Amino acid sequence: MVSRVIPVDDFDLVIFGATGDLAHRKILPGLFRRFTAGQIPASSQIIGAARTDQDDDAFRAEAAKAIREYAGAAEDDPQLAEFLALLGYVPIDAKGEGGWQELKSRMRPGAVHAFYFSVAPSLFGDIAERLAGHGIADDDSRIVVEKPFGRDLASARALNATLAQHFTEQQIYRIDHYLGKETVQNLMAVRFANVLFEPLWNAQYVDHVQITVAETVGVAGRGSYYDKSGAIRDMVQNHMMQLLCLIAMEPPYHFDPDAVRDEKLKVIRALEPLEPADIVRGQYQGEGSDYLTDAGDADSRTESYVAMKVRISNWRWQGTPFYLRTGKKLRARTSEIAITFKEPPHSIFDDSGHPKANELVIRLQPNEGMNLKVMIKEPGPGGMRLVQVPLDMSFADALGPEGADMPDAYERLIMDVIRGNQTLFMRGDEVEAAWAWTDPIIKSWEEGKRRPEPYDSGSSGPEEALRLMHRDNRRWREIRA
Ligand code: NAP
Repeated sequence: MVSRVIPVDDFDLVIFGATGDLAHRKILPGLFRRFTAGQIPASSQIIGAARTDQDDDAFRAEAAKAIREYAGAAEDDPQLAEFLALLGYVPIDAKGEGGWQELKSRMRPGAVHAFYFSVAPSLFGDIAERLAGHGIADDDSRIVVEKPFGRDLASARALNATLAQHFTEQQIYRIDHYLGKETVQNLMAVRFANVLFEPLWNAQYVDHVQITVAETVGVAGRGSYYDKSGAIRDMVQNHMMQLLCLIAMEPPYHFDPDAVRDEKLKVIRALEPLEPADIVRGQYQGEGSDYLTDAGDADSRTESYVAMKVRISNWRWQGTPFYLRTGKKLRARTSEIAITFKEPPHSIFDDSGHPKANELVIRLQPNEGMNLKVMIKEPGPGGMRLVQVPLDMSFADALGPEGADMPDAYERLIMDVIRGNQTLFMRGDEVEAAWAWTDPIIKSWEEGKRRPEPYDSGSSGPEEALRLMHRDNRRWREIRA
């Protein structure tokens, strides 16, 4: 199945922080791939901006190196040469006044104007102010801002207020790259384009939900940076909250940015405050792979793992817990959502044991797909014996190689910015609501004296997290790739 490519309108995209890691690894390679897919008009411009003093050609050489490394372009790829012709560069210090008029002179009237803030959040205000002050951005321009969007409710509010001085909410695209993942969007398709699941998607039929985002990497190399945030700020407040919302939200009346985001916001507002007994924090340990060493602070109480039991206080989910866990240095790299349904209320098969509960697992990575566990009769003579089997679908198998060759989250999201579609971006009130729920959890931890529970690198996480489930007579799914 070949995915359709619909070209976007002619655009001028300015990347602030174009010499940085994110631009090199994700933004420029992503744009190159969209160009080779035929989605970017050849008249478009991509203008890099940062303090590094260099000209267009030097930036093109820098971009070519990054694209070869991260998009696998061949040395003599003719499409790479064509793509590089779209690139330009203007040296700009976000805090200074030089370069802005040069940037303005390069922007073409009539093209879509987008400004990607791939810089530290402390520079967002400076850039927004100068774009508006120098008359570079107008009412139709879009700005793209990166995570982290604040580190608590107060800083997120301040950031929103700063951006709101110069841009309307409709112009602001807050990236959570999880929302750009193909399978994350598939959550909405599975729920709202099939009649099969939605009638069962509630506390009457769903026993519990597990959301797991497990990583095998640690924080070595960026330990001092990570140590200031931890798993709750880095993963739960944004990515896992978004997954939870897409699973738990009511059907929006239309697949429209504000309709979808209104429903997500209602879920966040319905989250019950977390009790201390419902959360477990962990830190990985082990020979040569130790969080405290990687963080460079032997006393650090920052968590590299968190597991929590979350309750949603509304009609649909009253009594159905959502268990969330995420961590570094775990047994395997995997992201999945598992919906465990309730057991059938009555078994007619007296001798064959009680039928097991159905389970729907949506794998986000690796090997994106879905797995529905159903009960069938074990084949062969010998009476009626029940066995649970998986109805397993890998999207790569079902959709063929082209279906598996899906755009990276950044590619999709940048194209959505150019199209002016905000559905997959977080709205300011959503971000604030998520911080309003996580703030007390972080505060009570910071005020307490407890240390995170140690867990062995390469394990499934701390023992305490197992107990979080066992006390409810449930078990975590095994973490495996
Ligand atoms: P980085 O490698 O440190 O790059 C920062 C960029 O900002 C560089 O291009 C730097 O270039 C530019 N810069 C710094 N000070 C500036 C100033 N005063 N005026 C203009 N430009 C300035 O950071 P990064 O990893 O690319 O991250 C960029 C943003 O994305 C951050 O907000 C980060 O949290 C977020 N993010 C990054 C990743 C990732 O995988 N890297 C993932 C998610 C979110 P010059 O030194 O030439 O000025």
